[in-house]
Amino acid sequence: MEEINVKTAFITGVSGQDGAYLSKLLLMKGYRVIGITRSRHEENLENLKKLGIDNEVIIQECDLLDISSIISFINTYKPDEMYNLAAQSSVGLSFKQPIGTINFNIISVLNLLEAIRIIKPDVRLYQASSSEMYGKVSNLPVTINTPMHPLSPYAISKASAHWIVVNYRESYGLFACNGVLFNHESFLRSNGFFVKKVLQETVRNKDNSEWVLRVGSIDIKRDFGFSPNYVEAMWLMLQADNADDFIICSGKSITLRSIIEYVFEKLGVSKDKLVIDSDFMRPTDIEDIYGDNSPAKRILGWQYDLDFYQVLDILIEDELTLFTQNKSC
Ligand code: NAP
Repeated sequence: MEEINVKTAFITGVSGQDGAYLSKLLLMKGYRVIGITRSRHEENLENLKKLGIDNEVIIQECDLLDISSIISFINTYKPDEMYNLAAQSSVGLSFKQPIGTINFNIISVLNLLEAIRIIKPDVRLYQASSSEMYGKVSNLPVTINTPMHPLSPYAISKASAHWIVVNYRESYGLFACNGVLFNHESFLRSNGFFVKKVLQETVRNKDNSEWVLRVGSIDIKRDFGFSPNYVEAMWLMLQADNADDFIICSGKSITLRSIIEYVFEKLGVSKDKLVIDSDFMRPTDIEDIYGDNSPAKRILGWQYDLDFYQVLDILIEDELTLFTQNKSC
């Protein structure tokens, strides 16, 4: 009888935005998906539930700072691929919790690589790197060879993890890749991130005369994309003939102000509702950043051509649906 070869994938940070979309993608491709979380409580399964896949992912609790638990899970499930998405992922919070952010975001990656190197060096590893690593750039678009000048504890942690991955690939021949993703959004984005905050607050309060939207620097420009498309690039990176690092982005930047204005206009909210509040300013910030996605398109065959206003149309609809569902619960 012909043996069916089911691939097994580990996804750390499975409860996050990308973890949920990546789980869905891999399940559709026939993978057995082991979702790693720090804690298996109900709230952490919320995103998987929203995508209707909470019963299909095998959830395991694991502290990625404890290498012995990682080794034990690798021995149990013998994964073919590991997608490391777990991180303290907020730039703002990293200024308030620099030590925790740097400690977790670096040591967890080192533990995963060491565990793979020691017990299963044929595992293919994807590491969630970030465009924030490039920080203060003098030349745009950002390419994989742009010098890094990180401007936050989060960016520093991601830059260190990035180079650890490169080092393990070069030193030990591991199939380990960095996906350098620019900002990407969806209705699963955690509360507090800029686009989610604008959408959530505006949808909830558009008819409230007392409400104003408080934000920090909004004349900075960012390259934004759509999470369900970006997780496809993660999978493609681990199917390639050779391990390498790739920039994943839309290739265009827009100001945060134009995002707010677009959302306000679509939802019929006056511009007077916008308040600039110095409490939301960061100690340092990147003025403009966008990347070059042509190597990902050419080498991986990744396809992406959405502009961010198209993504915003989807997000506004999703946020309105979510709001209506929550009200009727
Ligand atoms: P997310 O929604 O914040 O999810 C990250 C997950 O990491 C959390 O759900 C959490 O899951 C886990 N985690 C483990 N240790 C943590 C800690 N110490 N503090 C906080 N969370 C911790 O992130 P995402 O948007 O899906 O992004 C996935 C990865 O891509 C992250 O590594 C992020 O830094 C990176 N990235 C994201 C973007 C973006 O625009 N979204 C851009 C570039 C890079 P449990 O609580 O279940 O363990």
